[in-house]
Amino acid sequence: MHVTDILSELIAIPDLPGQSNAAMGACIGKHLDNAGATVTLLPGPEGDRGNIFATLGPADERGYLLSGHMDVVPVEGQDWTSDPFSLTARDGKLYGRGTSDMKGFLASMLATAYALKDKPLRQPLHFAFSYDEEIGCRGVPHMITEMPRLCAPPLGCIIGEPSDMHPVLSHKGKRAVSFTFKGRAAHSSTPDAGLNALYPAADLALFVRGLNLELAQSGAKDDRFDPPHSTVVASVITGGTAVNIIPDGCTVQIECRAVPGQDADAIIDRVLQFARAAQRSGAADAVEVTDLSSYPALTPPDDPALESMMSELTGHPVQQAVSFGTEAGLFQAAGHAALICGPGSMSRAHRADEYITQSELDACCKVLGLLADQLRP
Ligand SMILES: [Zn+2]
Repeated sequence: MHVTDILSELIAIPDLPGQSNAAMGACIGKHLDNAGATVTLLPGPEGDRGNIFATLGPADERGYLLSGHMDVVPVEGQDWTSDPFSLTARDGKLYGRGTSDMKGFLASMLATAYALKDKPLRQPLHFAFSYDEEIGCRGVPHMITEMPRLCAPPLGCIIGEPSDMHPVLSHKGKRAVSFTFKGRAAHSSTPDAGLNALYPAADLALFVRGLNLELAQSGAKDDRFDPPHSTVVASVITGGTAVNIIPDGCTVQIECRAVPGQDADAIIDRVLQFARAAQRSGAADAVEVTDLSSYPALTPPDDPALESMMSELTGHPVQQAVSFGTEAGLFQAAGHAALICGPGSMSRAHRADEYITQSELDACCKVLGLLADQLRP
């Protein structure tokens, strides 16, 4: 089946994160079945969604793994020229939500599976489809855990986030945490009768500002990144109900992005210590801490075999780093060689009139075909 027809089908299924992905799972499962792959559906703990893992060729041999997420970010508040959930050709471009991030790669994976139908493989090609990536890589860990029973360890994992088909070796790690301070309500005319939860929250936000400055001035440096240091920011603050009520609760969301070699958890721990100290000092009655999302940094693999091969197959030099995060760090943390390489550009992702071009799709299919050739007898 042609890659563009598959992409058109995928775009028409608005698979938003945080909800059932049954329709998308059925569509991808059908194509993999038709291509003759061994397909395993891996329901997640949420009950209404899951990952898909499929293999062509002998699963007990070591092969390569292609991976992409099925979900896309919402289109609310974006001014699209055409229906984002209907693949639309215009000015030589193919528009639709997820064309670049990253259904273009998913369609290329499936077209590659069809091209391999009934062709013998000496080593396997695996197809890994994850859910809920866009809300913090929540789905893929469940699939990575299952991999030892599904296949021999892959020689390499290619995560097809848009990179203009450049093999990318690194990204920062991330952890996002929510802190909720509990105070006591009172009439604003007698503030001392209550405990104002906004103040410890504001103190925490300012502490984070200082911590970010410290990271910039004296933290670990990695010049492959922009900025070349780890960052920590306060991004959301919510609390209070009316101007004449002492607020009894306030939540601050903090996000840390750490360069490889610096631990995002250790940075977040310092924020946590500050929050706990606020509670001990009586500035808050309690602090609730909730993890929002996290993934580890991606670092260049010790063995350059995968990057050399992908550089040769794509005809593109290796790119050292990207500013966005991916599931590749999670594959690597589980012991698998991993890099990023996919069609389209992240600069078009998450915005109105996201697109990919036919030639980008064709180039990706060509590279995946060349990769599959390495697995033929
Ligand atoms: Zn993505």
